[in-house]
Amino acid sequence: MTLRLTNTAKTYPDGTRALMPTELTVDTGEVVSLLGPSGCGKTTLLRIIAGLETPDPGGEIWFDDDNVTAQPVERRNVGMVFQSYALFPNMSVRANIGYGLKMQKLPKPEIEARVTEVLEMCQLEKFSHRSIAALSGGQRQRVALARAIAPRPRLLLLDEPLSALDAALREALRDELAILLHKFQITAIFVTHDQDEAMAIADRVAVMSDGSVVQSGTPEELYRNPTSAFVAGFVGNAMHLKGTSDGKSLTLTGGVLPLDRDGAGQDIFVRAEDVQIDPSGPLQGQVETVTFLGTHYRVGIKGIMPDIVTSIFPGQNAPRTGEVVKVSIKPETLMLLPKSGVGK
Ligand code: ATP
Repeated sequence: MTLRLTNTAKTYPDGTRALMPTELTVDTGEVVSLLGPSGCGKTTLLRIIAGLETPDPGGEIWFDDDNVTAQPVERRNVGMVFQSYALFPNMSVRANIGYGLKMQKLPKPEIEARVTEVLEMCQLEKFSHRSIAALSGGQRQRVALARAIAPRPRLLLLDEPLSALDAALREALRDELAILLHKFQITAIFVTHDQDEAMAIADRVAVMSDGSVVQSGTPEELYRNPTSAFVAGFVGNAMHLKGTSDGKSLTLTGGVLPLDRDGAGQDIFVRAEDVQIDPSGPLQGQVETVTFLGTHYRVGIKGIMPDIVTSIFPGQNAPRTGEVVKVSIKPETLMLLPKSGVGK
């Protein structure tokens, strides 16, 4: 199913403009993540799609050729998974998953068959007769997902479904979820404020800020070609090199960096992997922190802009804290973006 939103905005009764007029299309089988900081309107947008909120007049929500704008939530056939599982704690896993199907008054053999199918999909067969109260957080979240997909919804909406879990479990479940959604070609929207989660799960990420979708693209596109300082900073933590530019070079506290483009009127950003410790580099700073992260060291250098971070991989020598180092940045790796006042 293809979802299409046109001119969809939301002003709450107290006057809060939670969502600016928004256009969004999610293709059949596509998983789109809404990524943005707290309060940017992600949940509002999701609730409008579900039918839990009405958009301001003029906004329309289409499921394929069906204008569902005026349809109540129960007629939209949308599956929902939230951070809080909202399961029935004293009922078994099987009964929880079958609940929606029973409400739809499906014949009993059909309910049994469908529940068995999603139990397998979500690797829950061995827990099927347990009560929810006897499950771990990760298992409960899997039941919530199984319950949402059992009625074969046209669209699956997930609102921070993993944020109540601990880090290791969140990562494992995140990968399982990505596999499951793609394997079964489920059209889905996944809300998160965690960039790693968005990148891992989604085919396409819509980055939101202050009630608007500011850029939408594949994780690679957003990372390589951010169109604003906000996206550069939010996706992949690009660093803002604060200095003065004469068009040919950028003067920073730690030295003068050559430019290959005229950056007049623009903010200049760089990513940690494009910063090199290099004895012939034009910049100089002092190593402040060296953190071992398993695959690489994260090295914080002060005195350059004023602070910069680089990654040192195996095979390279990690500097010591306090050491004075030279640093180079290839001009072609710099990102020149419109001035915005954010992403500092
Ligand atoms: P979070 O990640 O913290 O859940 P979010 O991006 O999902 O945030 P929303 O919950 O959509 O953001 O909220 C967007 C804005 O709308 C916020 O300023 C919020 O305070 C406001 N808001 C949400 N619900 C209501 C409401 N019922 N009445 C008035 N304002 C609201």
